Amino acid sequence: MSLADRAKVGAPPSRQGPGCQTGALLASLPEGERDALLSMLAEGSGWSAKQIHEALVDEGLRTPGFKSVERHRRGDCACA
Ligand SMILES: [Zn+2]
Repeated sequence: MSLADRAKVGAPPSRQGPGCQTGALLASLPEGERDALLSMLAEGSGWSAKQIHEALVDEGLRTPGFKSVERHRRGDCACA
């Protein structure tokens, strides 16, 4: 990721500031991977929060717990 890309994406959430672990992960992913994760998180994607979490673990990502994925998906997290 270039600085130009990072600037476009915006600052990642700070630890004390708004944002949950899932939001922080999204902010840290390269654009293509972020779009893929967003599509998996989208309503009606067919992916359960648990399956998404397992996919993140398989990819070796520093991953939020699937409860965080679930809350983020519902909009019931610090990002909302
Ligand atoms: Zn969130």
